[in-house]
Amino acid sequence: MTANLLEFDLEGLSGFCEELGERRFRATQLFRWIHQRGASDFDQMSDLARSLREKLKTRACIQGIPVISQHESADGTIKWLFDVGHGDAVEAVFIPEDDRGTLCISSQAGCAVGCRFCSTGHQGFSRNLTTGEIVAQLWHAEHFLRCRMGTESRVISNVVMMGMGEPLQNFAALLPALRVMLDDHGYGLSRRRVTVSTSGVVPMIDRLAQDCPVALAVSLHAPTDALRDNLVPLNRKYPLAELLEACSRYLAHAPRDFITFEYCMLDGVNDQPEHAKQLVDLVRQQAGGKGIRCKFNLIPFNPFPQSGLLRSPQPSILTFARILNEAGLVTTIRKTRGDDIDAACGQLAGDVRDRTGIAERMAQRRTIMLKTVQ
Ligand code: SAH
Ligand code: SF4
Repeated sequence: MTANLLEFDLEGLSGFCEELGERRFRATQLFRWIHQRGASDFDQMSDLARSLREKLKTRACIQGIPVISQHESADGTIKWLFDVGHGDAVEAVFIPEDDRGTLCISSQAGCAVGCRFCSTGHQGFSRNLTTGEIVAQLWHAEHFLRCRMGTESRVISNVVMMGMGEPLQNFAALLPALRVMLDDHGYGLSRRRVTVSTSGVVPMIDRLAQDCPVALAVSLHAPTDALRDNLVPLNRKYPLAELLEACSRYLAHAPRDFITFEYCMLDGVNDQPEHAKQLVDLVRQQAGGKGIRCKFNLIPFNPFPQSGLLRSPQPSILTFARILNEAGLVTTIRKTRGDDIDAACGQLAGDVRDRTGIAERMAQRRTIMLKTVQ
């Protein structure tokens, strides 16, 4: 059987090399060729013995995922739609900024959590991505961008798991993928610059803290269980009190000294001044009344027809942010990027699952806002 080497973290690749009867350090050379040089052909690997290259050709491959489309926005944002087979597609988005380049990537085709305001959630769950499929999004984007910019230095400085899917419901594949991102022989990203965003899979927040503590963003969206049960169905299993306790525990391991709370602004649903005041109380009650160290990121809702929801008007968002800020909670409002290319939450990919003509669907696409993070 041929192994796709994108599926391995360095430890896994070392094991694979041992199986081939090779010394473990060969894995480091191979890993660097793949992730630092973007190699997909063993013949490029000039410092590996020809005999090893021949052996690798029969036993392994370096296989990305096919790109269905690539769209570039006037503001420099680039979105790729990848074909993961059987009518499923996932997306990744590159967001250039003055001081960093952020890649937003997907962890699943579809999502089982089924949040009311999320188009991926409305599509339902198709399948978990493999480690190789998660890593391939970064591998493709990084080496495409280097080639485009004519540079050999790193272009992507931050990765956020904020594309399609719930990363903590695909932990087994996520963990080695995070290790590839962090590895100095891989992408060498710092833990503070890799963010896992979750709707609140409490036991897995603890696992992440133990196994690979990176920056954590938690999608809160509501200050009470009654409202959150309705917006994020997973709340019925892991209610707010448990979720916030898990966040407090995570802080003991986190590379940053705060948790980012994401809050999608839905007109008349969760955007009233009363909700902001309840949020202040909620986070202040944490850690035995000491409060939880956090920042809020308000996301203007990105509407889609089946949701029956609307984006909060800008004055409501500003009032909401002011209440939080005045209570001492650092709050930002997410910028809109990539509007002209639909650089957001799984809508185009969902269309592929419908098996309708992509070109036809793209012509119908709506204006979508793109998520950026700090
Ligand atoms: N499943 C994870 C990560 C992917 S979603 C999570 O829920 O955190 C990434 C972020 O986009 C989440 O904060 C999510 O709530 C938000 N989001 C989803 N659909 C959205 C929409 N239609 N408009 C604005 N934000 C949305
Ligand atoms: Fe899944 Fe996140 Fe969308 Fe909720 S917001 S349905 S958890 S991808």
